[in-house]
Amino acid sequence: MPQPATDAPRYAAPGLADVEAAAARIAGHVVRTPLLASPALTELCGQPVHLKLETRQPVGAFKLRGAVNALLALDEDARKRGLVTASTGNHGRALAYAAREAGVPATVCMSALVPANKVEAVRALGAEVRIVGRSQDDAQAEVERLVAERGLTAIPPFDHPDVVAGQGTIGLELVDDLPGLALILVPLSGGGLAGGVALAVKARRSDVRVVGVSMEHGAAMAASLKAGRPVDVVEEETLADSLGGGIGLANRITFPLCRDLLDEVVLLSEDEIAAGIAHAANVEGEVVEGAGAVGIAALLAGKVRPSGPTAVIVSGRNIDDAVHRRIVNGEVA
Ligand SMILES: *Cc1c(COP(=O)(O)O)cnc(C)c1O
Repeated sequence: MPQPATDAPRYAAPGLADVEAAAARIAGHVVRTPLLASPALTELCGQPVHLKLETRQPVGAFKLRGAVNALLALDEDARKRGLVTASTGNHGRALAYAAREAGVPATVCMSALVPANKVEAVRALGAEVRIVGRSQDDAQAEVERLVAERGLTAIPPFDHPDVVAGQGTIGLELVDDLPGLALILVPLSGGGLAGGVALAVKARRSDVRVVGVSMEHGAAMAASLKAGRPVDVVEEETLADSLGGGIGLANRITFPLCRDLLDEVVLLSEDEIAAGIAHAANVEGEVVEGAGAVGIAALLAGKVRPSGPTAVIVSGRNIDDAVHRRIVNGEVA
């Protein structure tokens, strides 16, 4: 993960009021997603288990919340100049979608190594794609150049107060929709989702447990929490590909939030993640990507034991069709 320039903006950490403002701002622009009971997981766990289906967002992932909130927080001049990011995954798609809906130009910088289908997915959403260099660092350097030279606004995927506040709106919906809420399972990568949700939920209901879930290999936030400071990890291939990538050695917001507010982080093997994807499809009837299935997988693996009403954030559905088919058919990828 490239490091921000030393003159990177200083952000104040977001609070509950920011999440509440985000909820008002994004209403009508994102889906207020359903929270559905899972009879099978309820039976398995002996406690009511519900699935928060962020798979139902128009881009197939919760990242639309943070992207829309960050965009709508900008003034007219900044909107006219446009947005830029280096994300090729769900954040890039969400930003492109949000920008198109608002009539704002968006640029997504990618290295020449990004697969054609990812380039096309972003282009199809109306964003300008700039192919530069051969690494994510090169793409990020181009973002910084466009910010400096053209006044574009960079919206990063997690370490930004408006992005965190946008993701945190899920937490407000959970507190409102699930009486007696005791436990939330949250997929964890850069920590925008987990940090935002924990911030919102604990401000309203300090007794709710919030547990982050990552893969065993290459989980940068888990390694950083263990080390007590942001650290880099070696990236490894994983079924939970949306959970890959670093948290930034100069992380300002999400590392402290996760350190202070997460009750626990659990790590899953690739087989456990595959079982989560297969259960989502075969039992719950939902197409879910690896990152989106880790909460379900943690319950199936017995790595988290609910002691009361439980919400599992099912964060996204963007998985390669062929990979999904293989997993659902029981041929682990
Ligand atoms: C980005 C993403 C996550 C992780 O969110 P962070 O804010 O980076 O922790 C989880 N699931 C999906 C589907 C994602 O796209």
